[in-house]
Amino acid sequence: SEIKTNSIEKKTTICCYCGVGCGIMADTDKLGRVTIEGDADHPVNRGQLCSKGRNLHYTVNDTSDRIFYPEMRYARNQPRQKVSWDSVLERTAAVFKTLIDKYGPDAVAFYASGQCLTEEYYVINKLVKGFIGTNNIDTNSRLCMSSAVAGYKMSLGEDCVPVCYDDIELADLIFVAGANPAWCHPILWQRVEKAKEKNPALKIIVSDPRKTQTCSLADLHLQLNPGTDITLHHAIGRALIENDDVDPAFIENHTEGFETYRAIVFERTVAEAAIICGIEESDIRMAARMIADANGFITMWTMGLNQSVIGVNKNLSLINLNLITGHIGKPGSGPLSLTGQPNAMGGREVGGLSNLLPAHRDLQNPQHRAEVEQFWNIMPGKIAAQPGLTATEMFDALNEGRLKAIWVLCTNPLISLPDVRKAEAALQKAKFVVVQEISHQSEMIKYADVVLPAAAWAEKEGTMTNAERRIGYLHKIKEAPGEALPDAEIICRFAQKMGYKGFDYPNAAAIFAEHAALTKDTHVDISDLSHAILKEKRAVQWPYTKTINGHGTARLFTDKTFYTASQRAIIRSFPDENLSEKISPDFPLILTTGRIRDQWHTMSKTGKVNKLKQHISESFLEMHPEDAAQRKIRENDLVEIANERGHVRVKARLSDNIKQGVVFLPMHWGKVLDSDLNRANNLTNNLVDPQSKEPDFKFSAVEVKLYTKP
Ligand code: SF4
Repeated sequence: SEIKTNSIEKKTTICCYCGVGCGIMADTDKLGRVTIEGDADHPVNRGQLCSKGRNLHYTVNDTSDRIFYPEMRYARNQPRQKVSWDSVLERTAAVFKTLIDKYGPDAVAFYASGQCLTEEYYVINKLVKGFIGTNNIDTNSRLCMSSAVAGYKMSLGEDCVPVCYDDIELADLIFVAGANPAWCHPILWQRVEKAKEKNPALKIIVSDPRKTQTCSLADLHLQLNPGTDITLHHAIGRALIENDDVDPAFIENHTEGFETYRAIVFERTVAEAAIICGIEESDIRMAARMIADANGFITMWTMGLNQSVIGVNKNLSLINLNLITGHIGKPGSGPLSLTGQPNAMGGREVGGLSNLLPAHRDLQNPQHRAEVEQFWNIMPGKIAAQPGLTATEMFDALNEGRLKAIWVLCTNPLISLPDVRKAEAALQKAKFVVVQEISHQSEMIKYADVVLPAAAWAEKEGTMTNAERRIGYLHKIKEAPGEALPDAEIICRFAQKMGYKGFDYPNAAAIFAEHAALTKDTHVDISDLSHAILKEKRAVQWPYTKTINGHGTARLFTDKTFYTASQRAIIRSFPDENLSEKISPDFPLILTTGRIRDQWHTMSKTGKVNKLKQHISESFLEMHPEDAAQRKIRENDLVEIANERGHVRVKARLSDNIKQGVVFLPMHWGKVLDSDLNRANNLTNNLVDPQSKEPDFKFSAVEVKLYTKP
């Protein structure tokens, strides 16, 4: 995977944007300029890259916004000064020790990112849970896929995606629920397009309140009302049961909970469900017929299900369709949750959320805590039994004064958190804010007492895991500018300044080796895997041991043995009730937020690339022409979207691709020229799923008015 020629050095790596996990070949010339192409030998993308991946070299070569050296200040009203790494980490350790001594370990928190490499996730999790002694380590992945984590655990016994991308070519039906992979996971969607070209029998169902680019490939678009996914999935389940189109042998031998499920889904007729969903009964029945006719059936979903106050139940209700039809653990069948971030999955493997332990161990299981404590060579009882603060809870705790210090790395919560003005207030109240960042343009810098310059994607080595459990190795492509350091090194140096032992790793390979050893004899077992093997093989799927095969495990549950106590998959039942905030006469429209094709997350990288702005250059509000006409709004008019939490001012785009009563804002924009009026999260609400703690980004009540200057 490393080819040297006279003038250039080619190295393999993995795209740092979405969870598809495309392989990249990066060339560096003698001047250090990097060029990028798709890795033709990578099993995920076979040389293809989407617009974001193709333009990655611009962000790599442009260091104009980079932070070059550490900075700190001694008081809030003082400016930060350039300092040495030793000084900044000694001072930070001293502040953390003082706060921990005075208020206890739960007075500090770390907020990380699904963009962190697995090695970085591993050391920060070890530092916080094993040595500081708090579980206050969470990540922006909480905003993205924590509902899927909980859904898998509750239905299959563990957080695991059972299928692989190759199953796409083996399926004859893909049900895409609450996702727009044509824009958000483009290379994976290209595989679907090619599979459909080759096999016209492959059918696609899409459920989404918006008619997105993904719908152009759909045989059936279920344009349901926001928040009615469970109603739809239950109605399809009922239609399958009514028509004897379930798999009785699979249900009998490999599941539990079917009878309760049957009772729940029979509480409402398909016709009643159709009215609630705002779609035709015949379309629900057609979806059920398509599932019944399929030999291979994949369910595929992302934020439309996850980012919801009922996100876990939405996940479970969709997975139930695989379970009642026996479409799991066989080629071309199973649930496939897509991850938004490149290493959300790797973070899950090392236990990088406030309620997890490494290798899918359970924080609240004393045996599991003891195993990890023994492995980390720490005092028995050091790992706290209670989950720590989640992403949104951290900022609530800062506002309430319970949390004193927060360390934010590799993410910008001032764009991405719901009801984001609350997060701004929280950072003002914090006693101490550490920001580990690559760009001085992040709004977080304004609040930082300490700024730690981090190496960017191309400037460090490590691993990431994509949405199909495939672990890939990222070569270091170039040196970091100035004094920037890899995130893992920053964390390990800080841990040593705190006086903790076990953080003197010689390199990232040694961190990976320790992480891999901790997975031994678990369902995530990669104990025989190493950086050296990954460099040679490019990417393998966990579990991976010498006894499995050279490329790991493509598919889980092929023997129909699930990871639950009974070894049966659990068909979960729950009431079908949308707990989102209610629309009202004052705020009668439902705001849903999401992504556009050529931007990624908070635009800290893609926002720097002019080419990517050519697709959509500014934020906008998509609304139905009828809703617009009622408000005397025309195409391109400046409109104000408002509710009790805040307001946003953007141009209107009228489209009958969106359901009447629903409006859509992209989630990417933060402050533009010091104005935060493009920021969708001024409007989103504070509700979270009670189980996953994932916010309800897809359902906030708003009103829209034509904006006229006062
Ligand atoms: Fe990168 Fe995702 Fe595009 Fe692949 S599909 S190139 S991983 S952004």
